[in-house]
Amino acid sequence: MDTIAAIVTAPGESGVSIIRVSGPDTYPIADHLFKCSGPLPSERPEYTSVYGKILHLDEELDEGILLLFRQPRSYTAEDVVEFQCHGGGTTAKRVLRACLESGARLADPGEFTRRAFLNGRIDLVQAEAVMDVVRAHSERSQTAALQQLEGKLSQEFDGLYNGLLEIAAQLEATLDFPEDELPESVIPTIRTNIDTTLQKMDSLLNTWGEGHILRDGALVVLSGKPNVGKSTLLNCLLGHERAIVSDIPGTTRDSLEEEFNLGGFPMRLVDTAGLREATDQIEKIGIQRTQKYLEKADLHLHLIDLSQPADEQTYENLKDLIPGKSILVCNKTDLPRLFHVEQWPEEIPIVETALLEDKGYEDLKNAILGLLSTSIDLSARPHAVISERHRHALSLAQTELQSVKELLSHEEVEESLVMAIPALRESLTRLGEVTGREYHEDLLDKVFSTFCIGK
Ligand code: GDP
Repeated sequence: MDTIAAIVTAPGESGVSIIRVSGPDTYPIADHLFKCSGPLPSERPEYTSVYGKILHLDEELDEGILLLFRQPRSYTAEDVVEFQCHGGGTTAKRVLRACLESGARLADPGEFTRRAFLNGRIDLVQAEAVMDVVRAHSERSQTAALQQLEGKLSQEFDGLYNGLLEIAAQLEATLDFPEDELPESVIPTIRTNIDTTLQKMDSLLNTWGEGHILRDGALVVLSGKPNVGKSTLLNCLLGHERAIVSDIPGTTRDSLEEEFNLGGFPMRLVDTAGLREATDQIEKIGIQRTQKYLEKADLHLHLIDLSQPADEQTYENLKDLIPGKSILVCNKTDLPRLFHVEQWPEEIPIVETALLEDKGYEDLKNAILGLLSTSIDLSARPHAVISERHRHALSLAQTELQSVKELLSHEEVEESLVMAIPALRESLTRLGEVTGREYHEDLLDKVFSTFCIGK
């Protein structure tokens, strides 16, 4: 391992900037650059800080504080120092350059955390939680990520892995019995263990819906004819529910999306009218784009104006509402009602509002949370939930385990046993990839490439 360095604080004006150095040459670099009275940094105890000047090639770059950590009790489990200097890009860049000219290499995105993983301080699920904490869009997301970082989710995956290991051992032991002498109780016991593990996998897989919303935000799509009150609703939602993070550099969020929090859940709101204006004058393209958003949507709010008579298009729109996803918002109840419909869509929550007067907002909020509660236990305290990568690997592990179960249900079970063992090993491999018990460079590259530099 070589020695790496990076600015770990965000760019721009700030009170303090931090430059982190990690690796075997950390202390020679610190001794070279940091001048303090008394012992050299390398001679000082870990978990201490010292004031001094940062000098390079006889030039003073800044004055600041040096934080000292020693392996293995550091973020990366290597020797680490952090230079705390004045904020603002220029000072931090000069100090970083001095570190690089003194023997360090610029860290890749996520490389500090990657080292923490490679050095066995955290597993892959915990490593991923670091960025989930950094990117949390709501308090609930942040608490869930913190629990993951503390190992709550890893424990669940470890439990599953150990369960599978036990089944593997039981399966392999069956091969030691001479043909026809396998005790009767063995296969049923294995089957019961498989069922228990499959159930645990199911309950973990069920946390994905919440995991997706906590990490990505629930995608809420707004539709309705012009003038029904979509912009008013958007302002109403954004006004009531302050977004914790409103402008995150480096994320690939669609610029047409507005962010807010509702009931502790991050939401991304898209006004489909905006989609049309922003793309092309050609209506068709706009409609296709709207359709795509509707397919991806976690929630769909369709607005109608009760003060206007319904026309053919309005009826058509009502038919397109999706049970479990759509909410019908009947707006402008403060005006005389000219809208009449023979049959309201079934299984679609209907909320009456007078948004201009801020009426019906609470009902709408409850309807939104009501739909969310079909996939999320809103009363539960925030807890660690799986990500898309975990879901993918876990589903593959579950499919393999299902096939083991099927093989063991055959009449001629002795013959199936030989095929069941490789399937079970495959299941173990998939599960091992989640926490990183089993990993390859490609997997790590994929996980850590989404990190920011300095983490
Ligand atoms: P959009 O075209 O669907 O985005 O509609 P807007 O939000 O721009 O609203 C169109 C007009 O309806 C504006 O003049 C709003 O002030 C008005 N409006 C919105 N909600 C209400 C409401 O509840 N009652 C009344 N009377 N007017 C409303």
